[in-house]
Amino acid sequence: MASPKKQLIVFDFDWSMSDQDTDRWIFEVLAPDLRRKMKTLKDEVQWTDLVGQSLREAFARGITKEQIIHTLQIMPFHPAMVRAVTDLKNRGETTFLCLSNANSIFIKTILESKGLQTLFHEIITNPAEWDPSGLLKVSRRVDPNGPQHSCKVGCSPNMCKGEELETFLARQGVEYDHIAYVGDGTNDFCPILRLRSQDTIFCRTGRGLQKRIEKEGEKEGLKCNVQYWGGAWEIEEKFSKL
Ligand SMILES: [Mg+2]
Ligand SMILES: [Zn+2]
Repeated sequence: MASPKKQLIVFDFDWSMSDQDTDRWIFEVLAPDLRRKMKTLKDEVQWTDLVGQSLREAFARGITKEQIIHTLQIMPFHPAMVRAVTDLKNRGETTFLCLSNANSIFIKTILESKGLQTLFHEIITNPAEWDPSGLLKVSRRVDPNGPQHSCKVGCSPNMCKGEELETFLARQGVEYDHIAYVGDGTNDFCPILRLRSQDTIFCRTGRGLQKRIEKEGEKEGLKCNVQYWGGAWEIEEKFSKL
């Protein structure tokens, strides 16, 4: 009898597992002028630093921890995604890893609100914590004052998702038969270059990752199988066949 397949599913969070971008959503809901300011400053200030700075400004004007938590709980998140990951996890033999440029508090708050707090084996993202005063403090995964990552394909200074994926695999020491990556953004291109020909990228259509695959995939030696999807109901369909 063949042994069951060992499988790893890697999830980006914003616009991949969820149907919104956490960093932008909370300001769109609670302080649209800060959202506008972030759009204006995004080419000058590193994005994670900009989120931290905007959270400090929001705190200074009286936006509370409770408001932020509630705003995360109501962020668009498709019920079919909850079903897709729950059913696959319940079938066993699949490990889930989250690889995200959001932060640990945003992700954990949303997962808890969907009953998915035990889904991921690990969540690799920017560290965050609530200060006793109610301020949410976010910092970069890669400390700006320490050694920087050596990514050559355009990851943001706060984290190279490709290096993080390789480090995770080495740390685990498990030989996975199949790795599937669910992503949408330009920074999901680096990690999928590390996937093998038997692996799969489930790429959300109409966003930065699709453009990079089409423009640079061949040139950069992308080996994995590419499958496109638009809505979470299609991920549910695809996961049911894994
Ligand atoms: Mg994303
Ligand atoms: Zn990278």
